[in-house]
Amino acid sequence: MVILQQGDYVWLDLQTGRQFDVPVGAVVKLCDSRQIQVLDDEGQEHWVSPQNASSNLKPMHPTSLQGVQDMIRLGDLNEAGILRNLLIRYIDRVIYTYTGSILVAVNPYQVLPIYTAEQIRLYTNRKIGELPPHIFAIADNCYFNMQRSNKDQCCIISGESGAGKTESTKLILQFLAAISGQHSWIEQQVLEATPILEAFGNAKTIRNDNSSRFGKYIDIHFNKRGAIEGAKIEQYLLEKSRVCRQASDERNYHIFYCMLKGMPAEQKAKLGLGQASDFCYLTMGQCTECDGRNDLSDYSSIQSAMKVLMFSDTENWEISKLLAAILHMGNLCFQARTYENLDACVVVRSPDLSTAASLLEVEPKDVMLCLSTRTLITRGESVCTPLSMAQGLDVRDAFVKGIYGRLFVWIVDKINAAIYRPPSCHSGALRRSIGLLDIFGFEDFTVNSFEQLCINFANESLQQFFVRHVFKLEQEEYNLEDISWKHIEFSDNQEALDMIAIKPLNIISLIDEESKFPKGTDATMLYKLNSQHKQNSFYIPPKNSYETQFGIQHFAGVVSYETKGFLEKNRDSLHTDIIQLVHSSKNKFIKQIFQADVAMFLCGYHQPSPAPKGAETRKRSPTLSSQFKRSLDLLMRTLSVCQPFFVRCIKPNEHKRPMLFNRELCVRQLRYSGMMETIRIRRAGYPIRYSFAEFVERYRVLMPGVKPAHMQEDLWGDFADRSSWTDLANTETGKSGRLRSSPSLRRLLVLQDHHD
Ligand code: ADP
Ligand code: MG
Repeated sequence: MVILQQGDYVWLDLQTGRQFDVPVGAVVKLCDSRQIQVLDDEGQEHWVSPQNASSNLKPMHPTSLQGVQDMIRLGDLNEAGILRNLLIRYIDRVIYTYTGSILVAVNPYQVLPIYTAEQIRLYTNRKIGELPPHIFAIADNCYFNMQRSNKDQCCIISGESGAGKTESTKLILQFLAAISGQHSWIEQQVLEATPILEAFGNAKTIRNDNSSRFGKYIDIHFNKRGAIEGAKIEQYLLEKSRVCRQASDERNYHIFYCMLKGMPAEQKAKLGLGQASDFCYLTMGQCTECDGRNDLSDYSSIQSAMKVLMFSDTENWEISKLLAAILHMGNLCFQARTYENLDACVVVRSPDLSTAASLLEVEPKDVMLCLSTRTLITRGESVCTPLSMAQGLDVRDAFVKGIYGRLFVWIVDKINAAIYRPPSCHSGALRRSIGLLDIFGFEDFTVNSFEQLCINFANESLQQFFVRHVFKLEQEEYNLEDISWKHIEFSDNQEALDMIAIKPLNIISLIDEESKFPKGTDATMLYKLNSQHKQNSFYIPPKNSYETQFGIQHFAGVVSYETKGFLEKNRDSLHTDIIQLVHSSKNKFIKQIFQADVAMFLCGYHQPSPAPKGAETRKRSPTLSSQFKRSLDLLMRTLSVCQPFFVRCIKPNEHKRPMLFNRELCVRQLRYSGMMETIRIRRAGYPIRYSFAEFVERYRVLMPGVKPAHMQEDLWGDFADRSSWTDLANTETGKSGRLRSSPSLRRLLVLQDHHD
């Protein structure tokens, strides 16, 4: 029986049975022998009968009343406790909270006055925990860790779309530029890369008005004095389909709308451009404006950023020409025909066709031919077959996506050419870096396709990296140190990851295999996936032979994938007719961005040996999944040699609104990110570690009688009086710190005392 009084704080468990519902905080308003009235955190009143009180009401630990800065200090260590802690801070507009050294950031959806130059100064060169939690504190620690330990650092920023990853990345970048700096040209160039990337790679979606449709890893390089010396940007998997299609209430990439708003009239006239509403590719979402964005002023920021990053006027103009060509291609008019009983189509001559052709510097009739017929080369003979209208439109869209995708890659390369300085032989060893990873979060839509599989595969890999760091390595280390340690259970996603991409005959490799197989179809691929994996508990086979979907049990939930179009998307290849069209173009720029394809085409075209029946006579370009897997492997390898920091962004509501906290939405994000287990392990663990040598080195000056390093032969000798070192460590880690040296004497571990 719980004895309650008016004013007591309690956990109210409504036992709704809903998956993401957890007890809510409440205060007792009235309490007599017949009923207990409580008012919950959301302002709702509830009546509980005293008989039910013991199951519905639990007293709240004092740490949950006001909230704590570091969740490892929570007395009520459960999901309800974490959630309320974030909530009460959020209501006070305090969006940052630690879990040990991991930062949790709740998107405020409003501009907070916490990112000023004054704040930057305040957070510079402070230990984590010295000041209230802040993204600047993480950036500061990255920077000073890098300098002190001379090790590369990385910061992994995760969360759902709209949770605040990109904003966090920008804030870290801003902080690093400010504290490292001489306000140098290179620093400005690194900062100005962002508006360009966002213009070409971000768009308004229903989840986020500035949603990044690509992943990125920015590696910032510092010289030995700690000043920014350069940077390198790696991009992952731009969503190309957006160029041709947008869901309702979504837009195409910002750059199109900015260009139409901001480009001077005479330039627009040369490109045949009017306004956004004139173009099919810009109006599919019935949305050409985005509240809170100013396309006109953004255009001039993009232009000046491009100048800073050394895009010449000619290059800039060539980019605009391609963007305009894309828009005109989208307005082409097709008519269905029949030709010898086959579905066929024609492209109608129109001003859009002539403008597109003239911008691409190809013949209009070649465009018409390319989009309405297909050449097949079998046994050295070329056969021309008509395309149906649907096929013609597909070829057109594939071409446009091909142009935009390659343009994006070219732009990132161009930016890198300006900001990346290869290490010189004498500075190479001294150069250190901080990498910032801002990559698409886990996705589960009504219909999920190949892109979602790649994105979720990336998220599985990152989750495994997190799990390894926070759980596996940590516990292994305690075992190595012979510390008595009660193993903490955590959900390990290694098996799911093995099935997706690691073990032989994994899902990605089977899809890839089938994509290379000329007769492979989405159906044969699904058949192979089923026969290989149906026994795997992480695989959900289709319910019957008509269904074209399979499911994967990801760490963040089950996602069902629609296989239709998988192979086509993975092959990611343009038909030879299109490559030939590009080859025939007089536009040097488009030829440049298609350089690799044209080279491959020419090399295949002149292949001496006859190709196998049914296959095209050109070499295959690498599939999307193999490219993606390679860049992801590379990324994981880079991350594994860095000291990692983690920022977990949380989206508090689906409406992009300030001061609105959807409890269930947040619980879901906390649960999937393993936040509970993380807190448990961080709390039981030893957050601060020094080797004896490091510890002595760092604090020797404070200890009377310890000889300077160069005069010291036997380091261990100095530990004869362990207790004085212990006192010293306690002073260093704060009054409540406890120090324990591991029995194996490898390390000195400092345990913080969590009992406030
Ligand atoms: P993600 O990259 O995770 O998809 P963003 O970083 O683009 O999400 O954030 C989405 C939007 O949320 C931003 O455009 C901004 O309006 C708002 N936002 C995110 N973080 C902050 C912040 N720290 N302060 C103010 N607004 C923010
Ligand atoms: Mg983003």
